[in-house]
Amino acid sequence: MKYELLIRRGRLVDPSQGIDGLRDVAFARGRVAAVEKGIPESLAAEVLDASGLVVTPGLVDIHVHAFWGVSHYGIDLDPVCLARGVTTAVDAGSSGAATFPGLRRYVLSKTRTRMRAFLNISAAGMIAERIGELEDLRWADVSWAVERAREHADLILGIKVRLSPYVVGKTRDLDALARALEAAQALGKPLMVHVGDTESSLEEIMARLRPGDIVTHAFHGWRHGVLDDAGRVLPGVREAVGRGVMLDIGHGRGSFSFHVAEAALSQGLKPGSISTDVHIYNYQGPVHDMATNISKFLKLGLPLAECIELATVKPSRAVGLEEGAGSLTPGAPGDAAVFRLETGLFNFVDSYGNTATGAQRLVPVATVQRGKVYRPRRQSEAVPSGKGRRG
Ligand SMILES: [Zn+2]
Repeated sequence: MKYELLIRRGRLVDPSQGIDGLRDVAFARGRVAAVEKGIPESLAAEVLDASGLVVTPGLVDIHVHAFWGVSHYGIDLDPVCLARGVTTAVDAGSSGAATFPGLRRYVLSKTRTRMRAFLNISAAGMIAERIGELEDLRWADVSWAVERAREHADLILGIKVRLSPYVVGKTRDLDALARALEAAQALGKPLMVHVGDTESSLEEIMARLRPGDIVTHAFHGWRHGVLDDAGRVLPGVREAVGRGVMLDIGHGRGSFSFHVAEAALSQGLKPGSISTDVHIYNYQGPVHDMATNISKFLKLGLPLAECIELATVKPSRAVGLEEGAGSLTPGAPGDAAVFRLETGLFNFVDSYGNTATGAQRLVPVATVQRGKVYRPRRQSEAVPSGKGRRG
């Protein structure tokens, strides 16, 4: 048999190739083998009929929390990622230099979703809610972080720092930022900065970032966001984005505001990636999964192809995933997702309890990983462990 799997008759949306139309996608030896109209079924061992459905490259979520049992945020990711169309996910700073080897051995190597990580500049990582990981800046040990990231360069894509007061306490946020930048610079890798209610303004923070660095929770509704008091995009934010600093969504339980997103988009300020920040406190809502996040951006007026671009090839390139990730170009990793694009009236909720009614909703139907249809093997792969404490 020439192909192991064939996805037939779907509407392929692959912005990396500029395709939005009917195509068949064939897989062989775990990779994409052909993207054409009318590939014969007889050439494939298994056929997935995608008539009336949307086919995309496997989604890439660059902000998740997977360190189950160590970080209080951690969840089993396969049920919310791989089972729902996300084939690659990046743990965003759950672990630091002292705890990363555990994340690697007990989580990243066992999760079926392809996993990478940003290393927290705090050596502890995000262990407990009651003590912020940078309240004592001794945890932000640059050489320790650099050493650990070099040891695990196959999985660690960059450095993460969180700058909210509940993380840095009385420490100056810009001091924490400087240490994180120093580590990222030494590694030649991106820095992901968590913002929201910071003591310093977003303009002060972004002025220090390099092209390729990432601001996550970009459309939060706390003080010191992307807008001024009159709702206009701040010039310093626009300037930094113009230089190549990337805005990432990182929806989370407290970091996505419909009002801010609407105001930013209407003034031409766009994110470079859509991500979830999915963790124990939000996977049952308001975040749910990537498909729900994408549906919120459909509601905000972004076309489907643009949303898929922000959830595949753009984040893939931003964090330096392997060539072809986030794309269904022949030769690329055989990762794809199949969705039903439903029409009707759907209520979406942001992180502040505001609702918005959209006319479309993307619903995961199937995931293909390394050229095979993903099927959960155990109950734990279908239902996340633990219970969300907050909405
Ligand atoms: Zn997070």
